[in-house]
Amino acid sequence: MTSTDPFSLATPYRTDTCGALRATDVGREARLAGWVHRRRDHGHLIFLDLRDRHGITQVVMDATESPDSHSAAGRVRNEFVVTAAGVVAARLPGTENTRLPTGAIELRAAEIEILSESKTPPFYINDPDAPIDESLRLKYRYLDIRREPMTRRLLLRSRLVQAIRETHHRAGFVEVETPILIKSTPEGARDFVVPSRLQPGSVYALPQSPQQLKQILMVAGIDRYFQIARCFRDEDLRGDRQPEFTQLDLEMSFVTEDGLMDFVEGMIVEVTQAVLPDRPIASVPFPRLTFEEAMERYGSDKPDIRFGMELVDLASVVERGSGFKVFDEALASGGRVKAIVAPGLGGASRREIDELTETARRFGAKGLVHLAVTAEGVNSPIAKFLTDGMATRIAQATGAGEGDLVLVVADTPDVTADVLGRLRAELGIRLALADPKVLSYLWVHRFPMYKWDTEGGRWDATHNPFSGVIPADEALLTTASGDTGRPSPDDPAGRAHAMQYDVVLNGWELGGGSVRIWRKDLLERSFALQGYTLEQMHERFGALLEAFDYGPPPHGGIALGIDRWAALFSDQTNIREVMAFPKTSSGGDLMLEAPSAPEPEQLAELGLRFVGIEPKKQPPA
Ligand code: ASP
Repeated sequence: MTSTDPFSLATPYRTDTCGALRATDVGREARLAGWVHRRRDHGHLIFLDLRDRHGITQVVMDATESPDSHSAAGRVRNEFVVTAAGVVAARLPGTENTRLPTGAIELRAAEIEILSESKTPPFYINDPDAPIDESLRLKYRYLDIRREPMTRRLLLRSRLVQAIRETHHRAGFVEVETPILIKSTPEGARDFVVPSRLQPGSVYALPQSPQQLKQILMVAGIDRYFQIARCFRDEDLRGDRQPEFTQLDLEMSFVTEDGLMDFVEGMIVEVTQAVLPDRPIASVPFPRLTFEEAMERYGSDKPDIRFGMELVDLASVVERGSGFKVFDEALASGGRVKAIVAPGLGGASRREIDELTETARRFGAKGLVHLAVTAEGVNSPIAKFLTDGMATRIAQATGAGEGDLVLVVADTPDVTADVLGRLRAELGIRLALADPKVLSYLWVHRFPMYKWDTEGGRWDATHNPFSGVIPADEALLTTASGDTGRPSPDDPAGRAHAMQYDVVLNGWELGGGSVRIWRKDLLERSFALQGYTLEQMHERFGALLEAFDYGPPPHGGIALGIDRWAALFSDQTNIREVMAFPKTSSGGDLMLEAPSAPEPEQLAELGLRFVGIEPKKQPPA
C-alpha cells in the first residue's frame, strides 16, 4: 500500500506510523517501522512494542501463524530498528491498553526485518521517570531525545515556532535572516569572537542580538521584520541562560509604544492558544505595571502575579518611632521598612526561620525580622524592643491573620525591594501559591532611562543605548548644568523614563524591547549623557548611525526568548530541557566534545598562539 502523496508519512518501510492505527483499522494490512521499545517473550508469542516519535504499537509474532517472523523476533533486542508487516487485529478483550492511543489493536506480524541493531543503551529509554544523570543524557543526546518527554518538548517547541511564523506572516511581517559573523553588537555581555583567516589580525563577533541590523532593516524600508534569531552571549550560565540561545526578534516601523505592545500582546495570545489551547491565560489584556509600581508592589521587575503576597510599606506605622533601632534608622536615612506575609507559616520552626534569614542575607539584607501571629498575640524576637502595641499594629497593617508569618526588611530602598521580592518568589514556590496551569503574562514598562555610573561619572542606558524617551520626559534629557557633556548624579536625566517594556510570564522575563530614538538631536543628547560624543558612538554603532543619515522611520521592536517560552510552556525550570543540543554550565557540548583544542595548522593560518594557557589535550581520535 504505497501512497502517491509525496507529503505522506507512508514509505516503502511503513504504511503507517507507530501512533496511527486504531480499532477502525482492524482487518487491514499494515507495515510499521521503528525502534523496539520493549520486548516480551512468552515462548509461543513474542510481543514487541514498536516506537517512533508518533507513538507505540504492539506487534505480535505467533510461532504457529508465522514461524519465520517468530524466530526473527527472537534475535531482536531493545532499540533495534525493525520493520514489520501483517494484519491489524483487535486485542483480546481485557488485554487492551487504555493508556496508549493504539491500545485497542496490535499488528500480527507475518514478516519482520531487522534494519539495524543497537548496543544496550546506557540508560532506560522506555521509562520516562527513570532518574538519569544529566551529563549522560547530554553525551547520548540522540538516545535522550528518543525518550518520550524530550520528544514531546521538542515537538512543542517546533509548534511554538510554527505558530510564531504563522502569526507574523499574517500580520505582514517579513522574515529576514541576518548574519552570524558580524561586528560587535553589545547587549551587556561579552562577545564570542571568531578570528578571520582572510584578514589576519582581525576578528568577527557573533551577534549578541541582531539589534543594529534589524534597525537598519527599518531604514531599508522593510517595515515589519521578524526572525527566529540565534544569539550568542559569553556569560556565566544559569538555568535560564545558555551561551547560544534563540529569540523571536522583531522590529516595526511607524509604530507607537502602545501599538507595538498591542501587536506583541495579540501575537502572544494567538501563539499561546495555538500551542496550548487548554491552558488558561490569567488576564487579557495583560496587566501593565510601570517599573516603579512593580518594584513597589512586588520588589521585582519580573514578578509572578499568579499570587498576591504584595509588599506592604510600614512607614506610616513605624515613622513616629518603633523602639527598634534598625527600623527607625533605616527610615531616618532615607531607607524603607517593608513587609510580606507568608500565609500559614506562623508555626515555622527555628530552622525554617534561619533558612529564610540566610536567604535574605544572601540577597544583601543585613537581617530579617519576623513576627508570628498567634491566637495569643504577636510573637517576635524583637517584641521586647518595640513600643507598646507596635507588634500588633505592624501585623494589622500587613493584613496578616492568625497562623501567618510577617517578614520585615528595613534597608535602602533597593535592597528592601530586592530582598523581599526574592523572598516572595521563593515562598511562592515553597508554599505552592501559584496555580501551575495558569499562564500569567504581564508588561513591565516605563523603566528609568538611565542609571548613574559612579565610576564612569555618566549616565548608563539601563537597557539599550537606542531606547527612546517617553514624550512627556523628553525635556528631562539634560543635565543640571545645562551642558549634556557634563553629567552629574542630580541631573533631570535621572528622572526620565524610557519607552522600554518587558514581557513577563510566571515570574520569568520572557523578553524586552523599546521604541527607539531615531531623531538625531535626541540621539546626540542621549549619547552625550551616556558619556559619548557622536564620534565615539560612531566607533561602536557606526553602520546604524550612518544609516540614520538617510531617513530613518520611527520604529521600535522587541525580542522574546524562545527557549524560555518553550520551557515555561512545558513546565520546565531549565532551558536545557527544551534545547536539542544544549551546553553544560561550563559551556561544553558533551556529545561533540566542544570546545576542543584547535589543530596546529588552524592556529598557524590564523596567526594565533595561546599564551600562558596549557593546551587542552585532544581526545584520542
Ligand atoms: N535587542 C534586544 C535584546 O536582544 C531586544 C530589543 O530591544 O528588541 O534583548
